[in-house]
Amino acid sequence: MSSIYLDYAAATPIDSQVLVAMQPYFSRQFYNPSEIYLAARAVRRDLENARAIVARCLGTKPAEIIFTAGATEANNLAIQGIMRRFPDGEALVSAIEHESVLAPAKLFKHRLIPVTKEGIVELDKLTKMITPKTVLVSVMLVNNELGTIQPLSQIAQILNKLSISRNSKTPIYLHTDAAQAPNYLDLSTARLGVDLLSLNSGKIYGPKQSGILFVKAGLKLEPLILGGGQEFNLRSGTENVAGAIGLAKALELAGRRRPAEAKRVTKLRQLFIDELGQRLPAMRVNGSSKHQAPHLLSLTFPGYDNERLMMELDERGIQVAVGSACATSSAKPSHVLAAIGLSDQLAQATLRISLGRSTTIADIKKTATALSQLVNK
Ligand code: PLP
Repeated sequence: MSSIYLDYAAATPIDSQVLVAMQPYFSRQFYNPSEIYLAARAVRRDLENARAIVARCLGTKPAEIIFTAGATEANNLAIQGIMRRFPDGEALVSAIEHESVLAPAKLFKHRLIPVTKEGIVELDKLTKMITPKTVLVSVMLVNNELGTIQPLSQIAQILNKLSISRNSKTPIYLHTDAAQAPNYLDLSTARLGVDLLSLNSGKIYGPKQSGILFVKAGLKLEPLILGGGQEFNLRSGTENVAGAIGLAKALELAGRRRPAEAKRVTKLRQLFIDELGQRLPAMRVNGSSKHQAPHLLSLTFPGYDNERLMMELDERGIQVAVGSACATSSAKPSHVLAAIGLSDQLAQATLRISLGRSTTIADIKKTATALSQLVNK
């Protein structure tokens, strides 16, 4: 039985070009980039070239890119790195952030920014929450359960205006977790207006445990990992050269494929909604009709148990998720679905379906047929 994979928001298979680019650094080019003999310096050059490629993709300077072991670490470095510097400060984080933003925020004074029923940060409420103590605002670019796109540049404008009018020496830093965005959205940090941006390569057809944090020039962070001082003193430890090279290649390819892929996947998502909507009128599509990333679909089937539906689909060779991958080990209903006003019961009737490069029209049709058969059973 051939399987249909519809969980690209959790993990993507590695692109063959990415794998080829990484391979030498596991064998011939194994050297420690901090050593000074020629062979090691060549590896250093390749690592710095990878940094320059990432910088180009984000419209930043290479010295503003810190390689990390994924988005969880990048988010921790951003949140803890700022908040440890301002012990009296407060962080404002959206109620629908990934746990890797929420958990470090909980170590400090923080409040949650509410979202609308469609899963978009409420700008009026955010504006009113800002006080002279606010030092950090963290709002993700694309939510990993709903796929909603957050108004980052509008938030940046609000923060800039308020920073000026509150007449404080401390600006309000803006961080975004962009882990779900690179395949579909432009990542220009200047256009987004962010000071810090996290992403990983495991969602963009690159290796897992590889990510970056963009840190705007001049912004100082407290490092979390101390030691040899690698990564501009922000992330000690011998660099994961193969991981960094793989991330750079994956990000470059994602940028190149973005326009065509965004169009194609948008059509597939709509086809899925149309096919299912006709057969299952009680189905509810969560998220935003206007500000929506194309690859993510959050669907509620009132009266049905999502784990059961997921397992029944799995038996038919179709792989989907009941929530975000990181939340599935806990029995708690999703905090994201709670934040958009879904009851626990409706949250437990919700599936997350995410599309990617190999998803075809036939996959969508087969999955829609299987789901409607299971729900109408
Ligand atoms: N942030 C978001 C929005 C994600 O979807 C994920 C992955 O599930 C992460 C952070 C964590 O990324 P990583 O597994 O690279 O640490």
